Amino acid sequence: MQSASQKIHNPTLMVNQPDYNDSDQLSMVVLGSGSRGNAYYIWNRDTSVLIDCGLSTKQILARLEKVGILHPQIDAIFITHEHTDHVSSCAILEKRLNRLGQHPTFYMSPGTFCAAPEKCLPNNVSLIRDLETTQVGSVLVEAFEVPHDGTECLGYRVGYNGHWVGVITDLGDVTDVVIDKMRTMTTMAFEFNHDVDMLQNGSYPLQVQERILDWSGHLSNAQAAEALERSVSPRLQHLILAHISEQNNCPKLAESIARNVLDRSCHTDLIHLHVAEQHNPSPIFTVHQKPKMVLPTALI
Ligand SMILES: [Zn+2]
Ligand SMILES: [Zn+2]
Repeated sequence: MQSASQKIHNPTLMVNQPDYNDSDQLSMVVLGSGSRGNAYYIWNRDTSVLIDCGLSTKQILARLEKVGILHPQIDAIFITHEHTDHVSSCAILEKRLNRLGQHPTFYMSPGTFCAAPEKCLPNNVSLIRDLETTQVGSVLVEAFEVPHDGTECLGYRVGYNGHWVGVITDLGDVTDVVIDKMRTMTTMAFEFNHDVDMLQNGSYPLQVQERILDWSGHLSNAQAAEALERSVSPRLQHLILAHISEQNNCPKLAESIARNVLDRSCHTDLIHLHVAEQHNPSPIFTVHQKPKMVLPTALI
């Protein structure tokens, strides 16, 4: 079998976005984010990975096509945890890709492998653990544990050319390890799941509210903002607010809270803020070489 780096890899990209076609940097598109399904496509010129398979195969391919990626080459697929909004289409996507001559490995933790619904499991699985790194073609993918009520849940960051692009969702608490990873990201999808008042005054049964608010549930806007405040760095170029609850949050509220944090930082105008949607793909976020920044004297 060809290695990923030997393959000719040239996703066809939108005509009005020529920079992405030419870029040898990492790019990411959020294909969908939220409790109804999640998938993130991350690539450079010769390697592509998908993080999570919680949208249908049809939607994954349709949304890639919608952003101009007509013939995606998927070299590996990394699964965060066993909840159906992250794993539901693994087996079907594998069959579809196999028919197209692609045989990606699905990486997941041992806990996810044991707990995932059997009908969702693909054949080509490799187990990955907390803080393990995997080389896929020219990119490095690192897994790190996040506290959530699945079994051995993972966040991921994908590294290439001195930059990291990461996905951190489905966590009820922010650990020091998560903060350390956040500080390294150039592009990051980070969970802003709910507003606590909306959740507590909403229609969810008390038991479900407690599950969401638990340390192994989901991050509130306030928790996410605090983590952002602790971690925001001059490296960060694209911040994508992810896994936003349709019932218990409002995209504009989450955006304004994140914006406030960025406004308090010294490099706010250089960070692109975006709110990921459940039913539409995001724009393509590409790492770019920043102009040299002049830091305020207080920071030197
Ligand atoms: Zn989820
Ligand atoms: Zn989950």
